[in-house]
Order: sequence, then C-alpha cells, then structure tokens
Amino acid sequence: MPKNQSSDSLVFAVDLGGTHLRAALVDDTGTILKQLKEETPKGDSADCIINALANAAEQWGDEKQRVVATSIMVPGAVDSDKAVVLQAPNLPSLVNFGLKVSLEQRLGWPVFLENDANAAAVGEMWLGAARGCRDVMSVTLGTGVGGGLILDGKLWRGSHGSGGEIGHTTVDPFSGLKCKCGNTGCLELFASATAIVRMTRESLSFFTGTRLTSDDLTAEQVYDAGRDGDELALAVFKRFGMYLGIGLANIINLIDPQIIVITGGAANGWDLFASEMYRQVEERAFRTTAQQVKIARAECGDNAGLLGAARLAQTALA
Ligand SMILES: [Zn+2]
Repeated sequence: MPKNQSSDSLVFAVDLGGTHLRAALVDDTGTILKQLKEETPKGDSADCIINALANAAEQWGDEKQRVVATSIMVPGAVDSDKAVVLQAPNLPSLVNFGLKVSLEQRLGWPVFLENDANAAAVGEMWLGAARGCRDVMSVTLGTGVGGGLILDGKLWRGSHGSGGEIGHTTVDPFSGLKCKCGNTGCLELFASATAIVRMTRESLSFFTGTRLTSDDLTAEQVYDAGRDGDELALAVFKRFGMYLGIGLANIINLIDPQIIVITGGAANGWDLFASEMYRQVEERAFRTTAQQVKIARAECGDNAGLLGAARLAQTALA
C-alpha cells in the first residue's frame, strides 16, 4: 500500500519508558495519526500504569473505533508470547504482572508486548535505515546500550527472551568496572550516555585545559565541548568509538548482518566517535565482511520503537 494512503485499522502503540510514557495511533502504512507524551506513573501498583493507558486511549476520540490492537514496548526482558514483563528495573510494578489480561479486559483489544530495542529494530527495518534488509542488528546507545536482532526478516528474541543484548557483551573484562547486570566490562559501560559522563570524570586530571569540570555534567555538554575541540571530550568519544567498534566487530563476525543501525540519544555523538568505530571494525572483523556490512545511523528517530511495536501487532494479526 502506498505510504500516503491511510488504511482503516490502527494500532495503539505505547512506548512505556521508565521516565516517559509515549503513545501513538499508527496505521498500516506507518503514518502516526495522533501522539501523546506524559510522565510514566510511579507507584507500587501496576494499576497506575493500566489507568494511564486507559486514559490515553480515551483521548483518541472517534479514531478509537478503528483500533485493532494495543502494542506496548518496555525497557526490559519480556515473554512476548504471554505478554509478560520478566525483568524491567525501571518498571518494577509490571514484572510478572498480568498485563495482557488486565489491558484486554479494560480496552477490549488484543495486547502485544515487546522489548524496546527489539521494537526499534523492527521500526527501522519497516520504514527506516534498514528498509529492504533481512539481516539487521540495531544498537541503541542511550542511558544504557540495547540491541535488536532481525534474522531472515524475523525478530530474533532468543530462547529466553534476551536475544540481541549487545550492551552486555564483554568488551573489556579486565577494566574492573562492574555493570548493573552483574558482569564486568560490558559494552554499556563504555558506549552509553552514562559512560560518556563517567569516562570524562575519570580522565579529568589528565586534561588541565578542559572546560568539563562541572559537577552535574551531561553527555550533551561533553559532545558540545568535543565539537569545540576540547581534548578531554575528544579522547572520551574516541574511547567510546573504540569499544563500540570492538562490540560491532564481534557481532559482524558472529551474524554477518547486511546492516547495523545505530540509534539512541548518544548516537548524536556520531561525528566524534564514528571514525574510531570504523577503524576497530576494519581491524577486527573479517575483511570481506567488514567491507560490505553497512553501519548507518537510524532514520526513524524517537518513533522507531512505536512504529516497530505497531508493525509487530499488524503482522501478528494479519
Ligand atoms: Zn552488563
């Protein structure tokens, strides 16, 4: 169906983050008809979240009549078949909660659940940088590092719901840095927004001329300083690119994807980390593979996950 031709059925897609709840009405062509963003309700009970989603659905007005599914993505491990959240440090009230039954009773539409990085991978394959590709790895560089893996056109969730978690593959076992997952030296400890701030602080004493001395430093400030030639910032992003490149080279040799899509807020530092990332990939991955695999920035922006969630529901109902 052409992109400008709106179809009848809509998916109520939800990005349930630890901080923000974003929701959208998405049609079969990927057009977002309506969208809202609010704070994710805090509380010990999942009822707060169920109520917030029911309230969001009320705001769709007449379009609500065309909704055929609710499709939710969360930052955590999920059992997609049962629509159960298995692990989500930022959404503790949803873990092992009967989300599917509660929401289906409340809203009347079938409920689908997906990990947010997986949904983003599907969104990029549908309408973004990985259009037309069948073997896709998407890497989300945000507060942490997420991954979504698509093999032969299908999302690879793994046998236990945690497939594609590149952020928790080891890139420096002897760094002594402990990850929240329990492992040491995970990619997430070097290639996330959190890592940018930590690595800047760690190296502060070696760069006396830097302007990055604030106590409440952000990754954006480090990036801005790097654009202005701050040597500490440039060293931090080089280190970021080095570890990211090591992680990507491992993935390239393991699955030989057509494309690796880089997304998330920390991907905005691309011009400061990309050359070192490519250098590591060239040095470490099989030569012929490394020459052919495309590493590209995402094209769907913040909406990749919402679009992917919608697409997953459409595909399941087709
Ligand atoms: Zn980890």
